[in-house]
Amino acid sequence: MDLSRFPRRRYTQGATPIEHLPNLSRALGGPNIFMKRDDMLGLFPGGNKTRKLEFLVADALAQGCDTLITCGAVQSNHCRITLSAAAKEGLKCRLLLEERVANSFDAHGNGNHFMFELMGAETIDVFPGGTDMTAAMQRTADALAAEGRKGYIIPGGGSNALGALGYVACALEILAQSFESGVHYDCIVVGSGSSGTHGGLVAGLWGANAQIPVIGIGVSRDPDLQEPLVYKEALATAELLGLRGALPRDAVRSIGGYWQPKYSLPNRRMVEAVQMLARLEAVPLDPTYTGKAMAGLIGLVRAGEFKPSDKVLFIHTGGLPSLFASTEVVLGHTSVPD
Ligand SMILES: *Cc1c(COP(=O)(O)O)cnc(C)c1O
Repeated sequence: MDLSRFPRRRYTQGATPIEHLPNLSRALGGPNIFMKRDDMLGLFPGGNKTRKLEFLVADALAQGCDTLITCGAVQSNHCRITLSAAAKEGLKCRLLLEERVANSFDAHGNGNHFMFELMGAETIDVFPGGTDMTAAMQRTADALAAEGRKGYIIPGGGSNALGALGYVACALEILAQSFESGVHYDCIVVGSGSSGTHGGLVAGLWGANAQIPVIGIGVSRDPDLQEPLVYKEALATAELLGLRGALPRDAVRSIGGYWQPKYSLPNRRMVEAVQMLARLEAVPLDPTYTGKAMAGLIGLVRAGEFKPSDKVLFIHTGGLPSLFASTEVVLGHTSVPD
């Protein structure tokens, strides 16, 4: 695979670290757990969307666009990082937020809401849950065009084939680090939402013939819906890369049951995971993605999914600001469902 064929902006210097988590591994009595710190990617603060935006923003600039348009849930990390990339590139940014939980947007709220204002989004439009956000973004682009401006639409989560190249690059980065450190990973575990991260990793590892299985922990869907979505994304990415051969359907595996009661709403296992990682390893997780993904990994370890000799790599995809919008919940001061 030759990723240098694709225009790319650079928002992170070098590779993100891979850290061994000895205290967590010992507490769980399972495999050795490692963590790739993609919460340390560049931008303000970075996360998995930083990698996708390196390719998406390069495309926007190549097309001469002056405004990034994107959408997300109200505490969207993707919207924050897109806005952050726009600020760095001297572009304008318009955000369209979907209130999947009624009345959850607070323009003067904490976490990402605060950062939308601080980094100066040009407009923030809030829509009720279930709105066709693709159509809404197109209307925004049309309105800009009518003023002689040029918007670039980035799909929710930055998840199209171009964005997923960011996680093809991450797969190659992991293989290089693995070779450098002499540590072979038996499995990679990652949160799986709009699918670009999971799908890009699967396409990249397959394209490199790495034969390392990936388990995605669904943050909004159980496997019957999540796996087809990720598979489609992985296929589109493999096609963009011009990979030969048929990516097998069973390269995409996801686990359900950890995101309920609803996307972005807390549960007890997420709270346990956030507390464990903070207290055992001084690693901050977020309540919507990495807390639930780590709860999934802890659940898999307890269910005997791995051998004690295995080395498992968890990808920390970021999300820090929303932790500060959920302090009472993660401290266990609020009662939450199982
Ligand atoms: C968006 C996001 C994810 C999910 O990644 P997808 O590519 O949408 O599947 C995971 N973790 C964090 C912190 C995110 O912001």
